[in-house]
Amino acid sequence: MTSIRTYTGDIRVCATCAQPAFKESEVVWAHFDEQWDGIWCPYFPLAGDVIVVQWDRESLETLRGQYPDTHPERPRRRRGSAA
Ligand SMILES: [Zn+2]
Repeated sequence: MTSIRTYTGDIRVCATCAQPAFKESEVVWAHFDEQWDGIWCPYFPLAGDVIVVQWDRESLETLRGQYPDTHPERPRRRRGSAA
Protein backbone atom coordinates (compact mmCIF):
# COMPACT_ATOMS: atom_id res chain seq x y z
CA MET A 1 0.00 0.00 0.00
CA THR A 2 1.45 3.32 -1.01
CA SER A 3 0.19 6.74 0.04
CA ILE A 4 0.70 9.79 -2.11
CA ARG A 5 0.93 11.79 1.10
CA THR A 6 4.03 10.01 2.31
CA TYR A 7 5.58 8.76 -0.91
CA THR A 8 8.94 10.40 -1.52
CA GLY A 9 9.89 8.84 -4.82
CA ASP A 10 9.23 9.93 -8.36
CA ILE A 11 5.60 10.88 -9.00
CA ARG A 12 4.43 11.02 -12.58
CA VAL A 13 1.05 11.47 -14.23
CA CYS A 14 -0.85 8.66 -15.90
CA ALA A 15 -1.42 9.59 -19.53
CA THR A 16 -4.70 7.68 -19.54
CA CYS A 17 -6.50 9.31 -16.63
CA ALA A 18 -4.27 12.33 -15.87
CA GLN A 19 -3.90 11.35 -12.23
CA PRO A 20 -0.65 10.80 -10.34
CA ALA A 21 1.12 7.47 -10.28
CA PHE A 22 4.24 5.96 -8.73
CA LYS A 23 6.75 3.36 -9.87
CA GLU A 24 5.71 0.09 -8.27
CA SER A 25 8.38 -2.01 -9.92
CA GLU A 26 10.95 -1.78 -12.68
CA VAL A 27 8.28 -1.99 -15.34
CA VAL A 28 5.00 -1.13 -13.64
CA TRP A 29 3.51 2.21 -12.60
CA ALA A 30 0.53 2.22 -10.27
CA HIS A 31 -1.93 4.60 -8.68
CA PHE A 32 -1.91 5.52 -5.00
CA ASP A 33 -4.04 4.20 -2.15
CA GLU A 34 -5.91 7.47 -1.91
CA GLN A 35 -7.14 6.92 -5.44
CA TRP A 36 -9.02 3.73 -4.59
CA ASP A 37 -12.27 5.69 -4.64
CA GLY A 38 -13.29 8.16 -7.28
CA ILE A 39 -10.58 7.43 -9.77
CA TRP A 40 -11.49 6.46 -13.25
CA CYS A 41 -8.67 4.65 -14.97
CA PRO A 42 -9.05 1.52 -17.06
CA TYR A 43 -5.74 0.25 -15.67
CA PHE A 44 -6.47 0.89 -11.98
CA PRO A 45 -4.85 -0.04 -9.63
CA LEU A 46 -2.05 0.07 -12.17
CA ALA A 47 -1.42 3.10 -14.33
CA GLY A 48 -1.00 3.44 -18.06
CA ASP A 49 1.89 5.21 -19.75
CA VAL A 50 3.19 7.99 -17.57
CA ILE A 51 4.24 11.56 -18.22
CA VAL A 52 7.23 13.06 -16.43
CA VAL A 53 6.27 16.11 -14.38
CA GLN A 54 8.78 18.54 -12.89
CA TRP A 55 7.08 19.13 -9.56
CA ASP A 56 8.27 21.87 -7.31
CA ARG A 57 7.59 21.63 -3.59
CA GLU A 58 4.48 23.77 -3.75
CA SER A 59 2.86 21.96 -6.65
CA LEU A 60 3.56 18.63 -4.99
CA GLU A 61 1.92 19.78 -1.77
CA THR A 62 -1.07 21.01 -3.75
CA LEU A 63 -1.28 17.67 -5.51
CA ARG A 64 -1.18 15.74 -2.23
CA GLY A 65 -3.90 17.98 -0.83
CA GLN A 66 -6.19 16.87 -3.61
CA TYR A 67 -6.11 13.31 -2.31
CA PRO A 68 -7.45 13.20 1.23
CA ASP A 69 -6.96 10.04 3.24
CA THR A 70 -10.10 8.00 2.59
CA HIS A 71 -8.66 4.55 3.00
CA PRO A 72 -11.39 1.98 3.74
CA GLU A 73 -9.44 0.39 6.60
CA ARG A 74 -10.01 3.50 8.64
CA PRO A 75 -13.31 3.67 10.53
CA ARG A 76 -15.66 5.91 8.65
CA ARG A 77 -19.12 5.82 7.23
CA ARG A 78 -19.17 4.55 3.69
CA ARG A 79 -20.71 6.81 1.16
CA GLY A 80 -24.27 5.83 0.33
CA SER A 81 -24.65 3.24 3.07
CA ALA A 82 -27.69 3.38 5.24
CA ALA A 83 -26.56 3.89 8.79
ZN1 LIG B 1 -4.47 6.10 -14.74
